Amino acid sequence: MNPTQRPAQAGTVYLVGSGPGALDLMTVRATRLIGEADVVVHDHLIADGALSLLRNDAQAICVGKKASNHTVPQNELNLLLVRLAREGKKVVRLKGGDPFIFGRGGEEIETLFEFGIPFEVVPGVTAAAGCAAYAGIPLTHREHAQTVTFATGHLKDGSVDLDWSALARPKQTVVFYMGIGGIGEICRQLIVHGLPATHPAAVVQNGSSERQRVLIADLATLPEQIEKAGLTSPALIIVGTVVSLHRKLAWYQPSNWPRV
Ligand code: SAH
Repeated sequence: MNPTQRPAQAGTVYLVGSGPGALDLMTVRATRLIGEADVVVHDHLIADGALSLLRNDAQAICVGKKASNHTVPQNELNLLLVRLAREGKKVVRLKGGDPFIFGRGGEEIETLFEFGIPFEVVPGVTAAAGCAAYAGIPLTHREHAQTVTFATGHLKDGSVDLDWSALARPKQTVVFYMGIGGIGEICRQLIVHGLPATHPAAVVQNGSSERQRVLIADLATLPEQIEKAGLTSPALIIVGTVVSLHRKLAWYQPSNWPRV
């Protein structure tokens, strides 16, 4: 048997990605491990209904943080995982999307490594893949983009510290996670570094869920349109000429949510 197909082991931490939002976009392995866990330590943003898969006698601990409100400091959280594993529990550390993409999964399992705690990693559908699919915006396309870059738009000290010249190169798609707060600066920098103000840009809020909203604009108008439409986190920004394909390829209409 492939070792990763074994039932969950006592004293092990499973770092599990829950995908972009819809429960059935979670992997079969993630679903199984959640059902076997003694304790699930989870973020705020996880697949809708994932906790309903827990055994009745299992414990759920929310360590969720929103951008400005770090409920559990990262080092405390790392040590919590160590403690739970040392108590002999089957521990699932459940995150949104993929645990190795802007998920601090690396930091958590580095601590486990240092303490000699066994761990496994279960990948998930990252928000970029989920949002792109459900917004009908292919991230690569032979006529549009041969490169795709994932960047964080999270502001540190009021500025986004990124290699703007690289992000403004043509023939690529750039996806910004956590970009809503810094959207004005992101669009401004991309234009300053050479992209036309008319370069297509989109926002996908709550991608892949029933609450998905998609806004299509360009670099010049995106910030004000986001404000007008009242779009908030969790949202992903997609910049590139692939965004123009949305007009033809948008196939998903959430049944009970207005289009922007
Ligand atoms: N590890 C996660 C990302 C965590 S960072 C992953 O791989 O997807 C959190 C950011 O991800 C949010 O601020 C938002 O930019 C993005 N995000 C996560 N889920 C999303 C969703 N369903 N729709 C839009 N953006 C999402």
